[in-house]
Amino acid sequence: MSQNVTPEATSRRNFLKRFGVTVGAAGAVTSLGLLSACATDDDEMVTLLTTDGKTVQVPKSQMKVNLKEMEERGREGIPGKKFVMVIDLSKCRNARKCMRACQGAHHLKPEQHHINVLRMENDERAGFYYQPKPCQHCDNPPCTKVCPVDATFKRQDGIVLIDNERCIGCRFCIAACPYSARVFNWSEPKYVEGDENRVYDIELNVPQKKGTVTKCLFSADRLRIGKLPYCVSACENGVYWFGDANEDAVTNGTSKETIRLSTLLEENAAYTLMPELGTKPSVYYLPPKNRLFKYKYDEENDDWMKQHESKEGLES
Ligand code: SF4
Ligand code: SF4
Repeated sequence: MSQNVTPEATSRRNFLKRFGVTVGAAGAVTSLGLLSACATDDDEMVTLLTTDGKTVQVPKSQMKVNLKEMEERGREGIPGKKFVMVIDLSKCRNARKCMRACQGAHHLKPEQHHINVLRMENDERAGFYYQPKPCQHCDNPPCTKVCPVDATFKRQDGIVLIDNERCIGCRFCIAACPYSARVFNWSEPKYVEGDENRVYDIELNVPQKKGTVTKCLFSADRLRIGKLPYCVSACENGVYWFGDANEDAVTNGTSKETIRLSTLLEENAAYTLMPELGTKPSVYYLPPKNRLFKYKYDEENDDWMKQHESKEGLES
């Protein structure tokens, strides 16, 4: 929720100080994400994300924002990190809070999924399980190699992103991805009017843009401010672990427990999807123990997002 404070209410400089934002220096916004801009009678206001996750509006005249620098920062990633996700299939109960949080943050329509929860059944006697499937953030990603305009790329921290300002919508990357992780914006995005003056954030893929591709970003904007991804934080069932392979540490989004990545993978016989392709995913799965033999499958639940779209806002 944006916090609007007018110049009449308080001096702008004091207002900014309240939120720990320094103005007047080119490097002042390095810990912030520039989210949007809108014109007022007096001055143009920009919305910023503070280091503690709040959004604040500030007058553009008092800031020196280097958008080029922000784009470069988004392309380079966070130095020294190698982000990794572990998904515990024995815990997923198809609550879909991960999907809902992701769609809200990235302004997606109900039918658009950066992360999708699939019902898996490989043997009717073995019971079924649910499998959340985000982009696998492959270390050897086939998608980036086919892009003719360098719109999609892998960063030093392992995250694969898309620059929608560059994307020409050829969809080569969709054809190249063996995990069906990419989504095409066939029509005008959900918040086309509300987002019209918003400055594009390469680490959030917002505003969404018709005729371009979008996909899971490992919530690069949240990692920038030291927070867990939207999906990981939203899950109440302990399904997601997220962390840094370089530190050999992952944190559970529900319990907030931090443990060794290598121990978690070894002790639970973790695996990656389609390893034979050599894509080297950064997403690991723990096997679906305790399958759902007695769980009554509710077919209507597959339409969860559609049912709830109008009842509960999907705003970030
Ligand atoms: S899962 Fe698909 S979109 Fe994601 S990095 Fe791998 S090939 Fe690219
Ligand atoms: S659709 Fe966009 S990101 Fe994908 S290959 Fe074409 S230009 Fe690159």
